[in-house]
Amino acid sequence: MKQSLTFIPTMREVPSDAEIRSHQLLLRAGFIRQNTSGVYSYLPLGKKVLDNIEGIIKEEMEAIDAFEVFMPALQQAELWKETERWFSYGPELFRVKDRHGREFALGATHEEVITSLLRDEVKSYKKLPMTLYQIQTKFRDEQRPRFGLLRGREFIMKDAYSFHATEESLDEKYMEMKQAYTNIFTRLGLDFRSVIADGGTIGGTDTHEFMALSEIGEDTIAYSDTSSYAANIEMAEVNANYEKSDEPLKEMEKVATPDQKTIEEVATFLNVEAVDCIKTLIFQVDEKLVAVLCRGDHEINDIKLKNALDATTVEFAYEGDVLQLLSCEVGSIGPVQLPLDLQVIADHSVASVVNGVCGANEDGYHLTNVNPERDFAVDQYADLRFIQEGDLTPDGEGTVKFARGIEVGHIFKLGTTYSEPMQGTFLDENGRSKPYLMGCYGIGVSRIMAAVAEQFNDESGLKWPKNLAPFNIHLVAVNMKDEKQKELADELYKLLKSYRFEVLYDDRAERAGVKFADSDLIGLPIRITIGKKASEGIVEVKFRESGESTEWPKEEITEKLQAFFGAE
Ligand code: ATP
Ligand code: MG
Repeated sequence: MKQSLTFIPTMREVPSDAEIRSHQLLLRAGFIRQNTSGVYSYLPLGKKVLDNIEGIIKEEMEAIDAFEVFMPALQQAELWKETERWFSYGPELFRVKDRHGREFALGATHEEVITSLLRDEVKSYKKLPMTLYQIQTKFRDEQRPRFGLLRGREFIMKDAYSFHATEESLDEKYMEMKQAYTNIFTRLGLDFRSVIADGGTIGGTDTHEFMALSEIGEDTIAYSDTSSYAANIEMAEVNANYEKSDEPLKEMEKVATPDQKTIEEVATFLNVEAVDCIKTLIFQVDEKLVAVLCRGDHEINDIKLKNALDATTVEFAYEGDVLQLLSCEVGSIGPVQLPLDLQVIADHSVASVVNGVCGANEDGYHLTNVNPERDFAVDQYADLRFIQEGDLTPDGEGTVKFARGIEVGHIFKLGTTYSEPMQGTFLDENGRSKPYLMGCYGIGVSRIMAAVAEQFNDESGLKWPKNLAPFNIHLVAVNMKDEKQKELADELYKLLKSYRFEVLYDDRAERAGVKFADSDLIGLPIRITIGKKASEGIVEVKFRESGESTEWPKEEITEKLQAFFGAE
C-alpha cells in the first residue's frame, strides 16, 4: 500500500484526553479515531490489525469445531424478558423502539438470541453438541467508558456458545475452549495468565478469565510465586490453615477507648496488632441484617459473602439501622452479646484469634482478651475475606503475589441458566425432554488491540508483534526526488509484493525526519530504508523490536526477509 494514497493521519502531540500509552499511540499513529465517548472508527491500519486478530481467533475456533455465524445486533425485548434480563441488566443495555413503539435491545451479548435460534431447530440429542461463534459489534452503555478501546460503549467481541446433552460433553468443550484460548493469546504474543474468575451477572459456575498483564489493568490477579495457581482477587479462595497461638486464655476486660474508632486507632491505643483485633460489620443481606466478622488486618469480600449466604444483594447496613439495632456507632460494634436473633457469620481467620480485641457495643469502649466460642458464638464460618499478598496460596504451594491485568477473554459454564427459562430443550436417548447445558466464551477483539499496544511500545511508538502488524515491512524512500532512490524503492515494492509480503511504501514527499518518526510511531516489524547507497544497491534495515540496524544488498533481501518472518 502506498502511503501517499492511504489514510494514516499521524499526530506529533499527545492527545490531551488520552491517559494511557496504548490510547495515545493508537491515536497518534493513526490507527483509530474517537467518534464520541466510547465509540471509535478504525482507520486502515487499525482495521488491518483487527483482521489479523480475527484471523487467529477464527483458525483456533474452527480447529475445535466451532462454526461461525452472524446474529442480529437488534434484538426484540421479548427475548430478554424471557430470561428477565430486560429488567436485571440495568442501564448498560441500550434500548431502542421501532416506529410502532416495539422495544428492542442493542446486543450487549447474545445468549438469548442464540438460545432462541437453537430451540427452534435442534431438538434431539443426536444434533448435540453444537458450538457456534460470531465476531460482532456489541453495545454496552458502560458507566465509565475509558482508556480508548479498552472500555468502549460500542466494541468488537468474539462470542461463542456451546450446547450439550450431558455434563461430560460440556466439560470437554470447556477444556477445549480453554486450550484454544491459550493458543489464541499465545499466538497474539500477549503476556497473559488464565485465572479463576467470578460468574458475575451472566450466571453459571465454572469460569476462567484470560488476563493480559499490565500496570493499567482494572483487575487484580492473585498468583502463586511457585505454582500455576492464579485467580481474580474478586473471588480468589483463601487458604484456611491459620496458625493459632497456644497462649493461655485470659479473662475478658472492658477498657475505655475514647475517640478511638478505626482498627488502626484502637490497635495503636491499646498497643496491639491489627491481627489481634476482630472487626464486626453489619451488612444488609437481602431483607435482613447480618453480623459479619473478620480479623482486623483483613477486608470482607462482598462477592464471597453473597455466595456464602446464598444472597442476591449484600451491602453495608445504614448507620441508622445499626444504631437502632445496637445503640452504638459503627466503630464500636463487637461480637460479644449481640442480639440472639442476629445471624453471625465469620471468616475462618477469626477462629484463630486468641485473647483478641473487639468493640464493646458501647461507644468509647472496647473488650480485650476476647476469645471465639468462649465469649461469643458464630453461626457459620466461611471464606469471606479478600486474599492478600503474602498469604499462603490455596494449593498450599507458594506465596500469593499480585499483578494487574486487562481481561481479554472470559469463558463460562452456564449450565441451564438460559435454556431453562427460555425452554431450550431437546429429547434425550430415552425420549425425555431436557434443557440444553450451555457454555459461553467471549474474547474482546478490539480490547486486544489496545492490550497488545499497551504491552508492545517504547518512547518512539508502537512495536507490533509479527503476527499482528498491519504490514510486514515499512519501505521508506528517504528522498523521492532522487531518481536512483525512487527507482530502487519502486522496484523493491513490486518485488516484495510478488513474494506476498505486506508492504507499506512511504512514497510521500516528506522530510526524512518526518518519515522516520512516523515509521517508528506506526511500529512495523522491519523498516527498509532506501537512501544514499541506492546507487550501490544497498538498503538499510532496522528491526523495530530490537532497535538494531544493518545493511543488506538488494539481492539478499527476499531471502533474509523470509528467514526473519518464517522464524516464528
Ligand atoms: P468487564 O469486567 O471488563 O466489564 P465483562 O465481564 O463485562 O468485562 P464479558 O461480558 O465477559 O465482559 O465480555 C467478554 C469480553 O469482551 C471481555 O472479556 C472483554 O475482553 C470484552 N469486553 C467487555 N466489555 C468491554 C468493553 N466495554 N469494551 C471493550 N471490550 C469489552
Ligand atoms: Mg462489563
